[in-house]
Amino acid sequence: MTAGMVIIGAGECGARAAFALREAGYDGKVTLVGAETHLPYERPPLSKEAMTSEQAPAIKAIADAARLAEHRIDLLGSTSATSIDRANRSVRLANSTDIAYDKLLIATGSVPRKLPMPGPGARCVYLRTFDDALAIRAHLREGSRIAIVGGGFIGLELAASARKLGASVTVLEAQPRILMRGVPAEIAEVVHATHRNQGVDIICNDGIAAIEDSGTNVRIALTSGKQVAADLVIIGIGAVPVTGLAENAGLALDNGIAVDAQLRTSDPHIFAAGDCCSFPLAIYDGRRVRLEAWRSAQEHGALAARNMLGAEEAHASVPWFWSDQYGLTLQIAGLPDEGETTVCRDVADDAFILFHLKGDGRLIAASGIGPDNAVARDIRLAEMLIAKSARPDPQALASASIKLKSLLAI
Ligand code: NAP
Repeated sequence: MTAGMVIIGAGECGARAAFALREAGYDGKVTLVGAETHLPYERPPLSKEAMTSEQAPAIKAIADAARLAEHRIDLLGSTSATSIDRANRSVRLANSTDIAYDKLLIATGSVPRKLPMPGPGARCVYLRTFDDALAIRAHLREGSRIAIVGGGFIGLELAASARKLGASVTVLEAQPRILMRGVPAEIAEVVHATHRNQGVDIICNDGIAAIEDSGTNVRIALTSGKQVAADLVIIGIGAVPVTGLAENAGLALDNGIAVDAQLRTSDPHIFAAGDCCSFPLAIYDGRRVRLEAWRSAQEHGALAARNMLGAEEAHASVPWFWSDQYGLTLQIAGLPDEGETTVCRDVADDAFILFHLKGDGRLIAASGIGPDNAVARDIRLAEMLIAKSARPDPQALASASIKLKSLLAI
């Protein structure tokens, strides 16, 4: 009898992997280990609908108990894995039980990066889990003063939610502009202007010198000498991969758990996927990346599952992510920082897409912004062009009268 498949981490990636094992026909034991008390759930709503819904926020479960049972996925919730015994192929849990595995998937995700200063207090919070979201939501109301440290995706999505509920919001970003990492300046400018029009005060290029929590409110001293008073401080300054188990087990690390294009770690019986791992991306000539994005977590989970069952499939999809703030949607396919030249297409009066090209004319990324789904279709087509390493005519890309679909056939 075989030991079965064990997945550590019951988030988007781990849960997806468990189902993908069944979809691929695996009939053995599947164990999914998760530290949270909840059933596996979607995180994207946490900064948006979970904050602003009229009813009390509900978890958007990836699968309910009946579906897990139907697929014979044994979810061990409220349980942490504490070590991996590679020689005996088993995982030890916090309650000292050992679970044997034939193949192991580490899908431990990432956790919020902590502000590098001592104990800012209970009014300084982070957002990662549904329970974090509930705690934040309790403070978002008409007239409350919210300071957000970090002008990244968490910070800006929460800023939009907080404004919708009537709170006053100040965003504090250490970099010269918001969304510095991975989002082109032209798109970040639109996002910044929208927040400004909605009444958000964004302070860039300023650091946090000190945070003083009196118990009833918080005072933030900035390095410029400015002071910001708040009832709640939300910190969204990036995420760090959860690699402790892998590190203690002696697996290779490189900006997360280092895996190959098949998501295999330095131990052939152990795979890693999602936010916790870095992997080489063939479309970027093997550049090693670590993606913190919902869709890649899903794709990784499914790919890892197939490879755990013996497929030798390399990761081939184009990174993609989106963010909704107010009525605006921003979408990015590929890695814009790989581009050497940029071409702009006006999709509508208030929507545009930037195409990022390599010096040899290869389309490498596309980033767009506009109301609702204005850029969605063209970003999807751009993604297909990127995947096939197309070298579209830049004039055709810039011309809204030429359908992107027609470029796919070339
Ligand atoms: P993020 O998008 O990486 O943004 C964090 C921002 O905070 C960066 O601009 C960072 O600058 C800045 N920062 C770092 N230290 C700072 C400091 N001491 N003071 C002020 N600013 C500072 O990370 P996040 O917004 O915290 O999001 C966390 C994770 O959730 C990410 O993986 C993100 O992709 C994910 N998420 C995704 C979505 C989405 O895809 N729609 C939505 C929400 C969350 P540096 O670059 O210099 O560090």
